[in-house]
Amino acid sequence: MICLGIEGTAHSIGVGLIKDVNKTCRVLINLIKTYKPEKGGIHPREAANHHAAYIADLIRDSIQKAKVDFNDIDLIAFSQGPGLGPCLRTAATAARALSLTLEKPLIGVNHCVAHLEIGRGTVKGCLDPVLLYVSGANTQVIAFAEGKYRVFGETLDVGIGNCLDKFGRAVGLEFPCGPKIEELAKNSTHYLSLPYSIKGMDIAFSGLLTAAENYAQKGKRLEDICYSMQETTFAMLTEVTERAMAHTEKQEVLLGGGVASNKRLQKMVQIMATDRGAKFFVPSRDLCVDNGAMIAWLGFLTYQSGQRMSIDESIINQRFRTDMMEVHWRG
Ligand code: AMP
Ligand code: MG
Repeated sequence: MICLGIEGTAHSIGVGLIKDVNKTCRVLINLIKTYKPEKGGIHPREAANHHAAYIADLIRDSIQKAKVDFNDIDLIAFSQGPGLGPCLRTAATAARALSLTLEKPLIGVNHCVAHLEIGRGTVKGCLDPVLLYVSGANTQVIAFAEGKYRVFGETLDVGIGNCLDKFGRAVGLEFPCGPKIEELAKNSTHYLSLPYSIKGMDIAFSGLLTAAENYAQKGKRLEDICYSMQETTFAMLTEVTERAMAHTEKQEVLLGGGVASNKRLQKMVQIMATDRGAKFFVPSRDLCVDNGAMIAWLGFLTYQSGQRMSIDESIINQRFRTDMMEVHWRG
């Protein structure tokens, strides 16, 4: 079965084509176009206009580059939520139009669950992980338990990526700021004290963000602030992930989301996993960031487990929680 997936929850519009081969996911193509605001954060309407401008070309390019025919596509999947309303509606509209034109079934999926399933589908040995999902807007620790994907811990305010981007913006770094902060942090080992804020299984970044901005205003070395931000936030994330692994008795940890490409975060989580005798997995970068292939793969899993969706049911849900998705493809 070949499935075309459209991702459009926030800053990126992506189109991916996947084919299932012996229950694993073969990615045929995975194209992404990212909206970069000239200044400030993401404006939902402007991001949606960006997506609308590129989606048709992305679909055409993905078909051509994957060397398939429109008639070869068996299923259309799209990101139904969570995300920014105008962006979700743009992706959903394109998916509905394609489904009606090609007369192929349509399926909407949960974006966060897709980040986990693409790891299971593409990374060898990754079977039942705890996912540390670290992106711009989302920061969640997710695992399968009692028939559903459940959130074991999450941010109570901003996502880790947004926290890094907001700090970067305040000190004049270009968006996306995460990679620049990672580079700057490499030139320091001088730790500046920052709030370490864990509440039960949840975490909060806003106090830390304010403290980091205050350090910058007082003229502390930028490299030291970046280093301290990474050390503190990544330690918080690793702690909550480890506790989720202990509670669920899972022996695997998987990274997902744009911040998963950070080498220091990878290292910390890997050390934790090794100490527990657990396995550590991180998919390739293009499958960690928001992408169409992960949507296509989850669409395939959902469809082949018997679920169907009418056009009426394909309405987007900005607050589509991870544990709201019915999971019939796992035992
Ligand atoms: P996503 O929302 O999952 O597409 O991820 C985008 C976020 O990842 C942005 O906030 C980026 O700043 C962040 N990001 C990307 N690469 C890195 C990196 N190497 N280190 C830290 N954050 C990163
Ligand atoms: Mg994401």
